[in-house]
Amino acid sequence: NLFSHANLDKLKQKAQKTLHRSLDQHVKLAVTGLSGSGKTAFITALVKHLTTQTNKQNLPFFDVVKDDRLIAAKQVPQSALDIPTFDYPSAINCLLNSEPSWPESTKRINTLTIAIRYETKHGLKQHVSPQSTLYLELIDYPGEWLIDLPMLEQDYASWSESMLSLLEKPEYSEYARPFLTELEQFNSEENIDEQALKQLSNLYTQALKQLKSQTQLAYLQPGRQLIPGDLEDAPILLFFPCREKNDKENSQYSHLASRFEAYKKQVITPFYKNYFCEFDRQLVLVDVMSALNDGPQSLLEQKHTLQAVLQSFNYGRSNLIKRLFSPKIDKVLFAANKCDHVNGTQQVAIAQLLHDLVGEQANDMRFNGVQIETMAMSSVQSTLAKRIKEGDKALDCIYGKPLNEDEWLTYLPPEPPNHFLSQSQWPTHGFEFISFAPLPSTKSELTHTRLDHALQFLIGDKLQ
Ligand code: GDP
Repeated sequence: NLFSHANLDKLKQKAQKTLHRSLDQHVKLAVTGLSGSGKTAFITALVKHLTTQTNKQNLPFFDVVKDDRLIAAKQVPQSALDIPTFDYPSAINCLLNSEPSWPESTKRINTLTIAIRYETKHGLKQHVSPQSTLYLELIDYPGEWLIDLPMLEQDYASWSESMLSLLEKPEYSEYARPFLTELEQFNSEENIDEQALKQLSNLYTQALKQLKSQTQLAYLQPGRQLIPGDLEDAPILLFFPCREKNDKENSQYSHLASRFEAYKKQVITPFYKNYFCEFDRQLVLVDVMSALNDGPQSLLEQKHTLQAVLQSFNYGRSNLIKRLFSPKIDKVLFAANKCDHVNGTQQVAIAQLLHDLVGEQANDMRFNGVQIETMAMSSVQSTLAKRIKEGDKALDCIYGKPLNEDEWLTYLPPEPPNHFLSQSQWPTHGFEFISFAPLPSTKSELTHTRLDHALQFLIGDKLQ
């Protein structure tokens, strides 16, 4: 009999297996931010907390943990074979060391996959298969690369004009002086001279690097000259802006223009097509505290940068970009990392400030169906809260070991603004937030602020 018990059981098992497989989900969570924004620390903390610290006290706002439904999570081999693996062992070693230090920053695109096994919450899933696996693919890439997107809509002449007028601004020109001086001597009409192009191109890269470190200006293109990834020393990066137009074949100018076009076609476009369009969720880390330390110009830059970054997600706007790629990101989290540099109440102001910086552009994205959230968090805690009595006043201080110092410090951080401040609104003494070394771990465990909130927003709905 075809419908004997044994047969039915087998069929049922098979059906369960198939369903089970189709219930397993894959999510690509991309993590970005300019260098120094905390990508490496975030990914390390995420892996650590998901794989070995999944208790309710530690992650109370992460539903799958709060509901006791998380069975286990572990790192599994990645499916993308062409991307280097995020070096978790080295990074976690730095943080768990008896003298903890920050791991080395992201210099290229990295990936790592975690399989999260959990009990499903309701509906069909529970009826058929109470357990499921979420494959969480983390992709860590430099935010500098997103700044290149507008280049796709420019030709070499218009790009040159926009970059040169930026470098010539009084506040920036001193950092670009060696390049600008040499550029004056450059004859774009001459026949191709690789050596001369390379030399000027190196000076241009130096100018970009100087501007990045000295002024926090972030609108620096091409982004791969700052963080080349695997293109270090590749000729495709050897170009610079030049105004002296020349259409002669084999001229220096035409060579530069063709390199510019090659960069767009072979570097920018594939990054968006092959990676960016595959992402499901995106975390953007923002170093608000450093911008406040640096002053009004930096904060303004931070705002411009965020707006440039937002353009990548706001694909509805530009027809060209819409034609080229159709990203599927449906949730973006902007997080001001390192919020443990201020006390608990001040963290609310930092989150509001970030919200203000992200601004109206986010509305367009919301309109297009993307969920956006802003928050203040700290993936790896470096300070403790400490209340100090001064007379009859209580001061909410923080306590930690400042970076590169031996003595621990109790410190009352300055009051951060809860909205964007212009130059004229800037307090006379500015801001001085201190950077701290990671806190020494007890029992090899890390501590965080609101990492669980971030996880809930980014992947909570995929773990139901
Ligand atoms: P990346 O360049 O984006 O990969 O940034 P990193 O993760 O290397 O972080 C850069 C620096 O920011 C670190 O060396 C730390 O000084 C600081 N930092 C990063 N994450 C945190 C955090 O969660 N809390 C605190 N207090 N500092 C952090």
